[in-house]
Amino acid sequence: MTEEKSLNFIEEIIEADLAAGNYPSITTRFPPEPNGYLHLGHAKSICLNFGLALKYGGKTNLRFDDTNPVTEEVEFVENIKQDVQWLGFQWAHELYASDYFSQLYELAVKLIRKGLAYVDDSTSEEIAEQKGTPTAPGKPNPYRQRSVEENLKLFAEMKAGRYLDGAKVLRAKIDMAHVNMLMRDPVLYRIKHAHHHRTGDAWCIYPMYDFAHGQSDSIEQITHSICTLEFVPHRELYNWLIENLEIYPSKQYEFARLNMTYTLMSKRKLLQLVNEKVVNGWDDPRMPTLSGARRRGYPPESLREFCDKIGVAKRDNLIDMGLLEFCVREHLNKKASRRMVVFDPLKVIITNFPEGKTEMLPSENNTEAENGGTRQMPFSRELWVEREDFMENPPKKYFRLSPGGMVRLKSAYIIRCESVIKDATGKVVELHATYVPESKSGHDTSGLHVKGVIHWVSAPQAVPVEVRLYDRLFLTEDMSTIEDDFKNHLNPHSLNVVTAYAEPELAKAKPGEQFQFLRMGYFCQDADSTDRKPVFNRTVTLRESK
Ligand code: ATP
Ligand code: MG
Repeated sequence: MTEEKSLNFIEEIIEADLAAGNYPSITTRFPPEPNGYLHLGHAKSICLNFGLALKYGGKTNLRFDDTNPVTEEVEFVENIKQDVQWLGFQWAHELYASDYFSQLYELAVKLIRKGLAYVDDSTSEEIAEQKGTPTAPGKPNPYRQRSVEENLKLFAEMKAGRYLDGAKVLRAKIDMAHVNMLMRDPVLYRIKHAHHHRTGDAWCIYPMYDFAHGQSDSIEQITHSICTLEFVPHRELYNWLIENLEIYPSKQYEFARLNMTYTLMSKRKLLQLVNEKVVNGWDDPRMPTLSGARRRGYPPESLREFCDKIGVAKRDNLIDMGLLEFCVREHLNKKASRRMVVFDPLKVIITNFPEGKTEMLPSENNTEAENGGTRQMPFSRELWVEREDFMENPPKKYFRLSPGGMVRLKSAYIIRCESVIKDATGKVVELHATYVPESKSGHDTSGLHVKGVIHWVSAPQAVPVEVRLYDRLFLTEDMSTIEDDFKNHLNPHSLNVVTAYAEPELAKAKPGEQFQFLRMGYFCQDADSTDRKPVFNRTVTLRESK
């Protein structure tokens, strides 16, 4: 059964455009600045841009918005490509705004020729001061009156490297009293003698965002240029530049950026966490980056499902991290093989099971999957169970182990706790139990009815594994409203590392492989694993925690 979904506002616009024959087909783009790794917010933008093109038979470009030479790196470009593909999308063309530097320069010259741009020698402080305020108009300065010839000459000299950083800028000549502050002669080009990761030292002037973005959209004939709400005020300038340059009329549409509870989504701040070693790199499983999500074990299908579920909003809001975790659980429930792993071991001796004997018991990998298969689990006289699954003085309706009580060991037998061994301090160190041979799972003729089922592992064959338990990185629900340093809000217990005891089958796992550890959550093998010590990341708990 397919659910009839209503169109989001961008789909409505596209369907109207296609119905009116405004475009033969649509072209969108995803335009990351390669100055960091992609995060969950970018996933929203990727799913939206690529999803629209897939839905309407159009195409999507991956365009690196690499107009700022100082912060950009090749490492980031490579990782962005990997992340987009991991999410499940393929771009029509891989493009770079820096490849348009010559065309952008020519467009700037065209504006100068039309008397719509001028070279300004003011400092950035002077420019800011002359700009006025939202309630007071700005003041034009004398440079605004420069002739076309003088501007052409000065701009060429800027390009040729005649001036130092900050000595001059190129500005659009629009209206110093405009109600939209961005329209008060915005800066289009600045001088920056810096090495660019692609163009090297070919340029020492670089276009500003507003002069590069819309023009790149036009060059690529993007039909629907989708960005986040903070660019609403830029739309007027976007349109002004396209109109006055007489280039392809791309159109900008804005949607609400994705904000999530207990999460920060700003590359700049995430970079700070990496640089200051608050986390172990961009792909630390606690990071809201796509590489972090991948390493943690979030399936890309769950991220796409999540982006689909939250829809496309026109107003900023805060999305519950629990919704993403719900999508992750739903997917892993069907996909992940079950394994038994004891986190806090308590020894159980099965006194009526022969010493030295090992019985192999089949256990289903995943009853939720179509062909989940089975594995063999060793059963012996000495087992580990979870310390939490024993209580010396249990309340009524306690269905796990207690003195004299019975419980079923999953895929194995019913056992009864016969006696409790303590050390000198009174701590329980061992349980002695008997098993019921007729109660074997799948062949139970014991007639016994026990309510509790617990996981276990056979002690001699148990494999010690490192388990990394993650909690949220920040303690504050809405990180967008904080006013102090965001690092004051870090959760000091966001990572807890424990050694656990796993059934031997788990030793065969490969990095990236995903499991449900029975009753403990979903886990993913980490690339830090060695043959001697496998490492697992907790992807998500089995249920939403309070
Ligand atoms: P950041 O502030 O984290 O650096 P950004 O917007 O500067 O993000 P870009 O690389 O410029 O990052 O963004 C590429 C695209 O992803 C843009 O179209 C941007 O609007 C979109 N995007 C970025 N963050 C989000 C978000 N939280 N939700 C939705 N879209 C986003
Ligand atoms: Mg940006």
